[in-house]
Amino acid sequence: MDIFLHNTLTDKKEKFTPIKQGEVSLYSCGPTVYNYLHIGNLRAYVFADILKRTFEYDGYTVHHIMNVTDIGHLTSDADEGEDKMVKALKREGKPMTLEGLRDVANIYWQKAHEDMQALDIEDAEKNPFASDEIPVQIELIQTLLDKEYAYQISDGIYFDTTKFPHYGELGGVKNESTSEMESRIGINSEKKNPRDFALWKFADKDGIGFDAPFGKGFPGWHIECSAMSMKYLGHHFDIHTGGIDHIPVHHNNEIAQSEAATGEKFVNYWMHNAHLTIANGDNSEKMAKSGDNFLTLDFLKKNGISPLAYRYWLLTARYSTRMDYSTEAIKGAQTAYERLTNSLASFPDGGKIDETYKERFSKAINDDLDTPKALALTWELIRDKNISEADKKATILNFDKVFGLKLGQIKKEDKDNIEIPKEVQELLHFRKLARESGDFAQSDAIRKEIQNKGYSVKDQKDGTQLLTKI
Ligand code: AMP
Ligand code: ZN
Repeated sequence: MDIFLHNTLTDKKEKFTPIKQGEVSLYSCGPTVYNYLHIGNLRAYVFADILKRTFEYDGYTVHHIMNVTDIGHLTSDADEGEDKMVKALKREGKPMTLEGLRDVANIYWQKAHEDMQALDIEDAEKNPFASDEIPVQIELIQTLLDKEYAYQISDGIYFDTTKFPHYGELGGVKNESTSEMESRIGINSEKKNPRDFALWKFADKDGIGFDAPFGKGFPGWHIECSAMSMKYLGHHFDIHTGGIDHIPVHHNNEIAQSEAATGEKFVNYWMHNAHLTIANGDNSEKMAKSGDNFLTLDFLKKNGISPLAYRYWLLTARYSTRMDYSTEAIKGAQTAYERLTNSLASFPDGGKIDETYKERFSKAINDDLDTPKALALTWELIRDKNISEADKKATILNFDKVFGLKLGQIKKEDKDNIEIPKEVQELLHFRKLARESGDFAQSDAIRKEIQNKGYSVKDQKDGTQLLTKI
């Protein structure tokens, strides 16, 4: 079945045609590891994961690269302000060295990766760190200098956007007025044009940095993504993803510098997820790492929301629709998710996939990842009196290859053998959350409470808990 995707480049839903038959090359802008991920960032990675799983469901081999930005991401789109990683280094009291930077990066990357695993996000083929890929970035900047797309001023090397006539086509930035653009980017009097952006920033005197033929310093954030994506996926690849905040600057810059350097088309399909917002007074605003409106997955867990219930909630809207966080909405998703897993656990195994439902599922998911429709279809199937419970289970577990919700995680024997009282079910749920967040003291304390109620609990290899009556 054909897959249709909304391409930001053309602002149209288009039929996907791969560059190489049966394969998809996919690059996602990864986290800047100066702080914990918030659940908005995680929306970007759940979206990329659903996209990847959809292709895999349709039999494609997906080559997925997601970078780790551990250097060079400055505070503003104008390449000004402090480097976010250097700021974190000071906050954490680490030595002002490249090794110190890497230590900070490792801490936050490890936690980011744990969060992604808790959300059942498949690992990328590779997660290159920008600081490990300095030679390819230097090479790319040198090519741009040689081809006279780049110029040097006192604080670094910049890309001359007027030399690239297509600059700003993604998201229609090209058509914005000078005053709109200046309020967004600001003015640096040494730059030839306000839109020009840094490829390399020189280190301060005695400051840390990487050696380069054009002077010690740090790569700009945008060149990192161009260099790493092209190194691992080739000059021309299929799909690039990120949040909508990356459209005006980061992704337009990636296109300009990559295509200027290679003379080839960079990416065929650009896809962007809408934001997760959160209420602030009467308004909703984007959840942001630098803001004070920032919720983590651990916060949800502490409040009784499992990571997969959060994933379920995300799938109730299309990736391209803005979602506004609310406790009620998330709790509703938790209830629905538990009802779904409990229903499946009560259904017998050994059924076969219902082809009519499977076709309808494929149609929904291949229509620009219509996950809300696919979930509605799942509930329609649960209620369908003409399909056996075993077939329902087999069909929905097949859908779960795309949903990634671990819908089969509660085993039938766990449910069959005992009728679990509600209070014990709740304790089991909280124990699971405690274990997922690494709070083993709490998990042991809950085990004792469960024992006092006449049940013993055993942890299975696959992460499920087996409950038996004492
Ligand atoms: P960062 O680590 O800030 O570079 O962001 C990592 C990814 O999260 C990028 O693709 C951003 O576009 C995306 N992102 C940041 N904030 C949000 C949000 N509130 N909702 C959805 N995606 C976001
Ligand atoms: Zn990027």
